[in-house]
Amino acid sequence: MDAQPGAFWANVATLTLAKGLTPPVFPATCLALSVGGTLSVGGIGNTSHHYGAQVDTVAELDVVTGDGRLVTCSPDRESELFNMVLGGVGQCGIIVRSRIRLIPAPSYVMLQDLLYTDLDKYLEDHLRALADGRFDSQRGGIIRDKNGKWGFTIEAGKFFSPPGEPNLASLVSDLRFDSATPAVRMTYQEYLFRFEARNAALAARFRNSLSRFITMWLPASAVKDYLSNIFAFPPELAALPQVGGFERISFFPMNTRRFTRPLFKLPSEDRAFAVWLFRSVPAGDQARLSAVTASNRELFAKMTAIGGKRYSPYSGVVSPAEWQEHFGLDTWRRLSAAKKKYDPNNVLTPGPNMFA
Ligand SMILES: Cc1cc2nc3c(=O)[nH]c(=O)nc-3n(C[C@H](O)[C@H](O)[C@H](O)COP(=O)(O)OP(=O)(O)OC[C@H]3O[C@@H](n4cnc5c(N)ncnc54)[C@H](O)[C@@H]3O)c2cc1C
Repeated sequence: MDAQPGAFWANVATLTLAKGLTPPVFPATCLALSVGGTLSVGGIGNTSHHYGAQVDTVAELDVVTGDGRLVTCSPDRESELFNMVLGGVGQCGIIVRSRIRLIPAPSYVMLQDLLYTDLDKYLEDHLRALADGRFDSQRGGIIRDKNGKWGFTIEAGKFFSPPGEPNLASLVSDLRFDSATPAVRMTYQEYLFRFEARNAALAARFRNSLSRFITMWLPASAVKDYLSNIFAFPPELAALPQVGGFERISFFPMNTRRFTRPLFKLPSEDRAFAVWLFRSVPAGDQARLSAVTASNRELFAKMTAIGGKRYSPYSGVVSPAEWQEHFGLDTWRRLSAAKKKYDPNNVLTPGPNMFA
């Protein structure tokens, strides 16, 4: 399937489902994102534990380079441009056509939330399910209730088409959750679009807020210790969104070997955890904004110390030196060389301050 400029993932969903097909990975919770926009950063979804990022599912691109050329690139043709545009934060070219691999779409999804109070059991179960790939859709959350008690969820999903219907109860029988919500069956289309109304409501609620979102990929071996930094936040400093009466952090495991694009940086271990902190403060509360910004810097410093990596849209990166540190010297040299070649006058995407 070829996505043209301006195509949103919602358009892709509608058009491909009509043919019984689907991209392997959609963004996890929002389809109102452009195809070019997510491919320029990576694109993570609820099926990424199987397929990697959206950038791993692209076969070919048309790119307008900074020096004004329209270039078709793929793993076999102009491959360095292909590699430096996918996850390249718009530095070398603007994506104007993306050829995305499609697979057969399931008709239905069975979803269930598994609820934990014990962090060790939670982390082990996430990794156990990751290792055997038993769920088609696997995401999770860390939540704090009004009494300050932290809890943990795995949202387990199985795709299917009639006549087969999955037996979720047997699939989760060896996991050690405390309780579970009833399994819910929905169409695959309902599953893909299920967060759109909530997103609109959240956007309206946070219209007068300043966001300091951060997203990190942490090595699985160090994640438990790292989380203690987050659990220590008082609610005021945590500045997390309230969803259904809980403060919420998105949290799910990743098979790092499934992510193959050179600019999508992950910890060196085989298994990692994604942590999405949607921190925001009311506009005008300068003191709190400064405190949250400083605390993000501390979190990033601790992340770097344990071999974690940032996700570029929520990276808090402010200087070329930090980008270099993020990519590592070899990749940074490749990206710098591509920038000189494809955008010699430095006209593309200055916002992230990657190349001064
Ligand atoms: C509500 C919401 C939910 C999100 N959920 C997810 C998620 O589940 N998974 C995930 O991985 N990410 C998620 N993100 C992050 C998202 O992937 C990035 O913010 C992405 O850049 C957004 O794309 P956009 O269409 O909004 O881009 P824009 O905001 O329009 O652009 C962002 C940047 O992307 C680059 N860019 C945009 N279009 C192109 C193009 N055609 N060619 C080259 N570069 C381009 C430019 O550098 C631009 O500055 C979410 C973001 C939001 C706002």
